[in-house]
Amino acid sequence: MSLPQLDPLANSNAEAAVARAHDGGCADRVLIAGGGIGGLSTALALAQRGIASHVLERRPAFHEEGAGIQLGPNGTRILQHLGVADALRARVGEPEALSVRDGASGAKLTRMPLGEWITARHGAPYWVAHRKDLHAVLADAARANPLISLSLGFGASQVASDDQRVCVASDAGEAHFGSALIAADGVWSGLRTKLIDDSKPRFSGKSAVRSVIAREELPADFLRNEVTIWLFPQAHVVHYPVSGGTELAIIVVLDDDRHDTDWSAAVAPDWVAQNMPACAAPLQALIRCAPAWKRWSLQSLPVPGEWTRGRIALLGDAAHPVMPFFAQGAVMALEDAVALADALALRPDNVPQALRSYQRMRRPRVVRVADASRNNGRIYHLGGASAVVRNLVLRYAPPERLMARYDWLYGWKAGDQV
Ligand SMILES: Cc1cc2nc3c(=O)[nH]c(=O)nc-3n(C[C@H](O)[C@H](O)[C@H](O)COP(=O)(O)OP(=O)(O)OC[C@H]3O[C@@H](n4cnc5c(N)ncnc54)[C@H](O)[C@@H]3O)c2cc1C
Repeated sequence: MSLPQLDPLANSNAEAAVARAHDGGCADRVLIAGGGIGGLSTALALAQRGIASHVLERRPAFHEEGAGIQLGPNGTRILQHLGVADALRARVGEPEALSVRDGASGAKLTRMPLGEWITARHGAPYWVAHRKDLHAVLADAARANPLISLSLGFGASQVASDDQRVCVASDAGEAHFGSALIAADGVWSGLRTKLIDDSKPRFSGKSAVRSVIAREELPADFLRNEVTIWLFPQAHVVHYPVSGGTELAIIVVLDDDRHDTDWSAAVAPDWVAQNMPACAAPLQALIRCAPAWKRWSLQSLPVPGEWTRGRIALLGDAAHPVMPFFAQGAVMALEDAVALADALALRPDNVPQALRSYQRMRRPRVVRVADASRNNGRIYHLGGASAVVRNLVLRYAPPERLMARYDWLYGWKAGDQV
């Protein structure tokens, strides 16, 4: 067989694998490069529509990495739809409120409703979870589904396609065929930069440093079932209960001149305390009792104009790494997954057109979320007189009205554009 090559991504092993590969009758499957939250949820959404897929994950095993992930109703609605919400329920927290405090004085600025209020408003709950728990339920559901196959230790490195199929090979010389390739290979996506858009993420000058604290280690002030955000000039801290309330995830976002490309760079025990602006005593105590801080450098990348090329499409962080000021990175990947599966189910006879229609559906929404997230970050990190005005607004605006400003975000349903 011969497939016209797209840009080769890597070594001659992979090139040779593409050249000698034959499709073995599997070319109807969708290939998904990347077994993160985006890749696995795409496989599940496709399976629900009767479409088989093969997930190719570079890591040889799924490590239990990461810390907290917030899942607004737009994300939990999708988990319900994918059939994994019941398995996850025992491991999540369902916070009653989102409290905002001034980081330096500790003053309470607002307490916006979540819990039953947001469930009634949007028909799905607001959950907070440990990333490993969300990833594990998606991986278990994928392994149990006969329409999904999963290869670990497969780093997609060479891609070729013709008007019928796409072929992906690894550096080790293994190759697979499919009707489409979904590149869900994360913020540092090699498939994006080589095949679709060569712009690279740039370090934003800020890091998110995270830890998870066992409940029995927590000072009494921090046992409340809520998401709390502490605001400082150029920094903020977020914490919430995870792992069914047995742990608290804490994330500190602050200016940083060190830049790592991995999610889990170790941070010296005193680094956070030394680099934080002066902060209220209870928060200082919490920061001091957090073990094993890990850093991830925040990357910024304008949402690319193109997400597709022929039978190949980007998804999740590979398409649009959004800044975490809205806690929507994983949820955008979940939204992408159902939109992509709907598009492929609607046009199985014309994959390139289905992928373009997925891009048309998703890009305006993701651009809006990315802009809103950046704006939220700017507001969180205000200083001086602007911070005083922000605090007055938060203090005196009705909390329900503050939360209702996000109806466009949390009310999203499959088929909605923005
Ligand atoms: C280890 C890790 C820890 C994280 N921790 C947090 C956290 O604590 N809090 C938070 O909010 N978000 C965290 N995230 C990010 C969050 O999961 C994502 O922003 C979001 O879920 C989008 O998911 P994604 O599937 O698009 O990308 P990712 O979750 O980044 O998944 C991409 C997957 O693609 C794989 N991959 C990369 N290149 C290739 C290739 N060439 N071939 C095959 N596979 C490839 C990667 O190994 C990874 O499994 C973490 C991500 C990772 C990978």
